[in-house]
Amino acid sequence: MTETNPFGGFSIAMVEDATPIAGGPSTFTSAADRVEAKVVIVGSGPAGLTAAIYAARANLEPVVIAGAEPGGQLMLTSDVENYPGFPEGIQGPDLMAAMRAQAERFGTRLVDADIDAVDFSARPFRIWARGTEYRAQSVIVATGASAMWLGIESETRLRGRGVSACATCDGFFFKDREIAVVGGGDTAIEEATYLTRFASKVHLLHRRDTFRASKIMLERAANHPKIEIHVNTGIDEVLGDQKVDGLRLHDTLTGDERTMPIEGLFIAIGHKPNTDAFRDWLEVDEKGYLVVHDETGSKIDGVFIAGDVHDHRYRQAVTAAADGCKAAIDAERWLEAEGITEAATATAW
Ligand code: NAP
Repeated sequence: MTETNPFGGFSIAMVEDATPIAGGPSTFTSAADRVEAKVVIVGSGPAGLTAAIYAARANLEPVVIAGAEPGGQLMLTSDVENYPGFPEGIQGPDLMAAMRAQAERFGTRLVDADIDAVDFSARPFRIWARGTEYRAQSVIVATGASAMWLGIESETRLRGRGVSACATCDGFFFKDREIAVVGGGDTAIEEATYLTRFASKVHLLHRRDTFRASKIMLERAANHPKIEIHVNTGIDEVLGDQKVDGLRLHDTLTGDERTMPIEGLFIAIGHKPNTDAFRDWLEVDEKGYLVVHDETGSKIDGVFIAGDVHDHRYRQAVTAAADGCKAAIDAERWLEAEGITEAATATAW
C-alpha cells in the first residue's frame, strides 16, 4: 500500500512480512496494515514537523501522521512576516512545504491521513489511521488547533458560497466585491488587511469596542482606506439563498438591528484545539487544551505534547516549532532512559 503526499517527494511504502533491522537504530517496520516505530508524531504543522526534523536527525526514523489536510494553520495563511530567517516574509504554504521537505530529507515517513482512534493504555501505544495500526514506543501529539465558526445555521448553509474561514484560499473570488470579516483579534485584522487586495471594501465586525489584536496591526487596519471598522456589532444571520448577499446585524449595546449588503463573510474568531482523539487519555484544561507537565510531558510516560494543541497563550509558528524541538529532545531522552534507544543516537541535535 502506498500513501502519496501532495507536496511530491516521499511516499510511505508498507511492505508485507517486513522484518526488523537487526542491530540498526531503526524500529520502523511495517506490514500491510501495521506500522511500528520508536516515535509517532501526530500532526504536521510547525510543531509536528520540527519534532520530526529533530527526531529524524537523532536516527529515530519518526512516522508523522500528518492529517488529511497536512501542514496545519499556516496552509491557510498568506504572508508570514514574523518567522525568523525570512526578512522579506514568506507565504505560509511555502514555509510548510520547506519544513516538510527538511523532515523528509532526514528520513521522516509522512502519512497524509487523519487519526481515527488511539489507545495509550499500554506500550507500545497504538494509533489507528485510515485502516492502519501504528505501534509507537513514544508519541508526540502536535495536532494544533482549528478555526472556530459562529455556529449559526445560515453560516453553515452558505459555507463555500460566500462564507469562508480562509482569506488566503478564497479572497481571490471577491475581486471588486464588498465583504465583511468578523472578529477582533490579530487573525481578523490580518485577514481584513489581506482581503483589501481583492475587495472593493472590507467591513470589520467586532462584538465589543476593545480589541485583542496588537495595536500596530489594528492601527494599520484602521488607517486603511478600504477597511471600515464596526464595533459592538453582532451577526444574527447571513442573508442569501444560493450565495451570500448580506448580513442581519445587531448592536450589542442597544440591540438595534440593521442589514448590511455584502457578498462575502470571512470568519476569524479564533481557534479550537484538536484534541478529540486524546480526551479519554490525556488531561484537558477548562478551555479544552491539553495540559503539559514539565515542558512537553503528559500524564502518560512516553506521550509528549507540542504546539497549539496545548498553547493558547502564544500560538505562533515559531513557538510551536520550538515546542516541537523540545518534545523531540524529551522523547529521545525518554526512549534512551527506557533502554529503547542507544545513547549513541542522541548526538545529532
Ligand atoms: P483571538 O485573539 O482569540 O481573537 C478572537 C476574536 O474573535 C476576539 O476578538 C473575539 O471577541 C472574537 N470572537 C470569538 N468568538 C466569537 C463569536 N462567537 N462571535 C463573534 N466574535 C467572536 O484569536 P485570533 O485572532 O485567531 O488570534 C489567536 C492568536 O494568534 C493570538 O495570540 C494572536 O496574536 C495570534 N496571531 C498573530 C498574528 C500575527 O502576529 N501575524 C496573526 C494571527 C494571529 P472578544 O474579544 O469579544 O472575545
